[in-house]
Amino acid sequence: MVARHNRHEADGQFLLRTIALVLCSLTVTSTTSAEDATPTVQHQVTFFDDRFPNDNPKSRTVEGRVLIAAQDGGLLIEGRDGRLWTVGPKQLEKDEATTEPFCPLSADEIGQQLQADLIAFGIKSPSEIILTKHYVICSTAGRVYGEWVGGLFERLHAAFHSFWKEAGLELHEPEFPLAAFVLKDQAEFVRVATKHDGPDAAVSKGYFSIETNRIVMFDLSDAGKSVPAKSFAEIRQRMRKSPFNVATVIHEATHQIAFNSGMHVRFADNPVWLTEGMAMFFEVPDLESLSGWKTVGRLNQTRLDRFRELLKQQRETATLASLIESDSRLKDVDVAEAAYAESWALTYYLIKNRKADYVRYLKTLQSKPRLRADTPEERRGDFCKAFGEDLEILERDFKRWSTWRSK
Ligand SMILES: [Zn+2]
Repeated sequence: MVARHNRHEADGQFLLRTIALVLCSLTVTSTTSAEDATPTVQHQVTFFDDRFPNDNPKSRTVEGRVLIAAQDGGLLIEGRDGRLWTVGPKQLEKDEATTEPFCPLSADEIGQQLQADLIAFGIKSPSEIILTKHYVICSTAGRVYGEWVGGLFERLHAAFHSFWKEAGLELHEPEFPLAAFVLKDQAEFVRVATKHDGPDAAVSKGYFSIETNRIVMFDLSDAGKSVPAKSFAEIRQRMRKSPFNVATVIHEATHQIAFNSGMHVRFADNPVWLTEGMAMFFEVPDLESLSGWKTVGRLNQTRLDRFRELLKQQRETATLASLIESDSRLKDVDVAEAAYAESWALTYYLIKNRKADYVRYLKTLQSKPRLRADTPEERRGDFCKAFGEDLEILERDFKRWSTWRSK
């Protein structure tokens, strides 16, 4: 439970910190942020890179496309590896358009980049690259565990896409190979997470970084064991003893798929109850089915139990409106765990009972511009447009349903 709390605290906080940081460093006004179409020309942008956790501030050149050119001269760039870079006007040294079209790196090139980064982070254990249809996994946890993770990711990817296609939501294949570090133990994870995304990220058991578009995690089947599992059967046997660990892997992979399929837009103002609710909706594992994912959206009993407790001691301020209008309850360490449980319950309720409206709401969020924070009124307006004006009726129905469900 504590681990779960830590994971989500870190996960949520990291996301918010990223958005806040980005919003501070670029001034975007309504006249400059329009993203009419994704730009197709490749640029070479040189800037002074002094961001944390960079130990060695220096000039950096990134090949990519310019997603936003702000009025103050700042840029939002998407690199060929899918990483987002915010460059403030004072950091920018040179921005040159090439004659080449924007071209994402190949899976092999991403793999080389991941291995080079591990070495730069001071990781001494040898790494292996595992390629699947959509994923590039850089593993120091051995090939077998890397392949097991790759298989799990692919099954989840297929299940996620078919679930939403059936629900009437148009998604697309990822434009970039989906990258993940799978490290052999927690010590390596802490080192990489700290170097990669800062100390907040290192307190989790794994996370998806919206900025770098990468998952960072470690071998969760190996708790306390020095010998990595030799077969998928052995991994499944170990993981069955710790379903929470499997949920962590799936949870972070769901974030990555959602942000790479056009469901959520990276660096747009996605409500955290929605993005986290989505990851928790999918996180219930299906380890028994090797051919496919048969149990998308199974009842998440742990989350439901936590929500039921919350309902018993609900504070006046913990209203549905407060969850929808702002992310504050989800980033307040004292109440975050309860707010996560509530976000799962709300997501589950809406998908099971109001699927068409939920899809309509997702479509509204899909069209949100990057780097623009919505006001609480805008958040509420978007929600009510999909689910109706009377939040109190919805809240009453939702809580009545949750109490009934939990019996
Ligand atoms: Zn999450």
